[in-house]
Amino acid sequence: MKIVRLKTAVVEGNFDWTFVRLETDEGIRGLGECFFAPGLTAILRSLEPLLVGEDPRDVHRLFRKLQLATSGAGSVAGIVYNAISGIEAALWDVLGQWLEVPIYRLLGGKFRDQLRIYADCHGGEALESLDEVLRSRQPSWVKRGSRHKPKDYFGQAKKERSYSAADYRKRALAMKSQGFTALKFDLDVPGTEGFDPHNRCLSNRAIDHMVSLIGSVRDAVGYEIDLAVDCHWRYSVSDVIKVAQALEPFRLLWLEDPVPPESLEALRAVASRVRVPIATGENLYLFEGFREMLQRHAIGIATPDLQKVGGLAVASQIAQFADAQTIPIAPHNISSPVGTLLSAHFCASIPNFLVLEFHASDVPFWNDLVQGMPKPLIQNGTIRLPDKPGLGATLNEKVARKYARKGEPFFE
Ligand code: MG
Repeated sequence: MKIVRLKTAVVEGNFDWTFVRLETDEGIRGLGECFFAPGLTAILRSLEPLLVGEDPRDVHRLFRKLQLATSGAGSVAGIVYNAISGIEAALWDVLGQWLEVPIYRLLGGKFRDQLRIYADCHGGEALESLDEVLRSRQPSWVKRGSRHKPKDYFGQAKKERSYSAADYRKRALAMKSQGFTALKFDLDVPGTEGFDPHNRCLSNRAIDHMVSLIGSVRDAVGYEIDLAVDCHWRYSVSDVIKVAQALEPFRLLWLEDPVPPESLEALRAVASRVRVPIATGENLYLFEGFREMLQRHAIGIATPDLQKVGGLAVASQIAQFADAQTIPIAPHNISSPVGTLLSAHFCASIPNFLVLEFHASDVPFWNDLVQGMPKPLIQNGTIRLPDKPGLGATLNEKVARKYARKGEPFFE
């Protein structure tokens, strides 16, 4: 079997869901999804000549070929891995279809049939849609005159109204009523800034506001619902420790990305001084990106993103190593159902799976983007593992085309 073409399409969801399709001379088509990035489809098209004529069943060898082509033997990170992750997923999809087995079988089989999902609840507010350089946008599928107001993701927080405990509570109850048993909220929202936006320090007032936000969620949903919080790498070691200590009574599932990513020692300092598991990993690439922090227990939970980290094989290697350190895996996921189902295959195949993210509860057509699976895909806070060959679902191109990002090729 040979690859004859690589094609791309981008759907404007709450992020740019970037699809890559590999077409073969035997008529099998593999589908993958990549984490958004500026110039991503151009990178994908640049990689096409390296794949055409190759046997798509040689997944590991083709991964290595793409890797070597991008920075020689020194390729360790960067946007090119967003592209490679999607391509690698498409290769597994081809192989699974050719062997007539689901992808999880290729990974060694399953530990479970249902994957527990957590709902990302942002800052309590509904819809947030960001373009490839994180500018907030009004998506084409949001009705004019709706409450959604595009806003700057960076630096203008003071002009916005503070997010309130009532917002958080309302959102938590809505998600609980849909059956989710795990939720995640942002801590870095308007109303929780310190005195200076650049020095990573917090005020007592800011910390008190965080406590009121998370406290209102706990009060609303009780302690049986797992609750994680995200800091988006914003705070100093000393001040995020104050935050974690103040939130201790709420028995959080994890505290995500507490400090800037450059220092492993900073992460270790936080992890060693707070009584809540620290999670990180959504921006890390390859096994090398995780090895030291797992080995040194700088984190309690690893959150690789399957559409970015380098692919399924890389993620499996990370999970295996994490398991040897007794560290669970909670994959980051902001993707369409395509990437989410790919993540489901991975989550089913590892022993140390904790919970998988779902970030698109505000996107009305999310379920409609794939065909071949019972809908809705997520029921009672879980997603069912696909059991058909390959990914187990295909893209509904009619729906995808309707919401395609303007100016991007659509599998042309
Ligand atoms: Mg995060």
